[in-house]
Amino acid sequence: MVENTLYRIVRDICERKLGMSGAGSPNLELENMAPNLGGYWESGKDRVALGRIKIQYHTTPLILLGVIAHEWTHAWFQRRCPRQDATSGARFTEGLATWVQGKFYEISGVKDIFIEKILPEMPSYPYREGYDYFIILEHEHGGAEELIDWLKSQG
Ligand SMILES: [Zn+2]
Repeated sequence: MVENTLYRIVRDICERKLGMSGAGSPNLELENMAPNLGGYWESGKDRVALGRIKIQYHTTPLILLGVIAHEWTHAWFQRRCPRQDATSGARFTEGLATWVQGKFYEISGVKDIFIEKILPEMPSYPYREGYDYFIILEHEHGGAEELIDWLKSQG
């Protein structure tokens, strides 16, 4: 299944390049989520539905990969940092997911696509404001992996 391949690519980069361990094995389901591109929510205690992603005829695998990275980050944060996930607002949680989405493109060598095409299409609040906030946090912590380590230490 193509979605499993895309999912593996995303998880591999997030886990190995950013140190985002501890998300368990959330499921990925592809589903028409119009008008949204994707979503993430817990569904039961043992099973997590991850990223019910809208598929459009003109949606490219490159766009889909970024959406998976974004939704997978919500799963990771909820499972690995439950206290912060419960107490942080939308700007923080969406900022983190959007920032990881951007890091995914950067690590893959196509950051320009994210900066020029994808990010400008996202609403200012909470996505672009949150992204800008996480860029500041990344600099304050001295790098992406260091920022992820700090998030993990906060629980
Ligand atoms: Zn989100």
